[in-house]
Amino acid sequence: MPPPSPTTDPCRDCGACCAQGFDCVEVEADEPFALLHRALLQPDFGVLQLRRPGGRCPCLLGARPTLRCEAYPLRPQSCRDFPVGEDSCAEARARIGLPPLPQVGTATG
Ligand code: SF4
Ligand code: SF4
Repeated sequence: MPPPSPTTDPCRDCGACCAQGFDCVEVEADEPFALLHRALLQPDFGVLQLRRPGGRCPCLLGARPTLRCEAYPLRPQSCRDFPVGEDSCAEARARIGLPPLPQVGTATG
């Protein structure tokens, strides 16, 4: 398969950082996501965590290659900041057996 172009979205065919790639996302208490989805968050030593029971974020919908984030417009800041194609992305992808991507921007969920 050719490498992703700027017109394709590699996240829809991956989802690693929203699933098995990591255990949780930290969310600040004053973020819109926390205010809207408090029931999904667990306090842990002063921070709120969006956990993944069953190895998948409860906001991750669909299946490859049409994965999407149900909370996308107001997703946590950590998700907004997640760098597609950088080291943490490559680490998450490797954990589910996918190769690294070129650096193409921030995660689209
Ligand atoms: S940011 Fe990286 S690990 Fe996360 S869904 Fe996109 S390609 Fe996969
Ligand atoms: S981008 Fe959406 S699906 Fe992925 S971890 Fe964040 S809230 Fe969950």
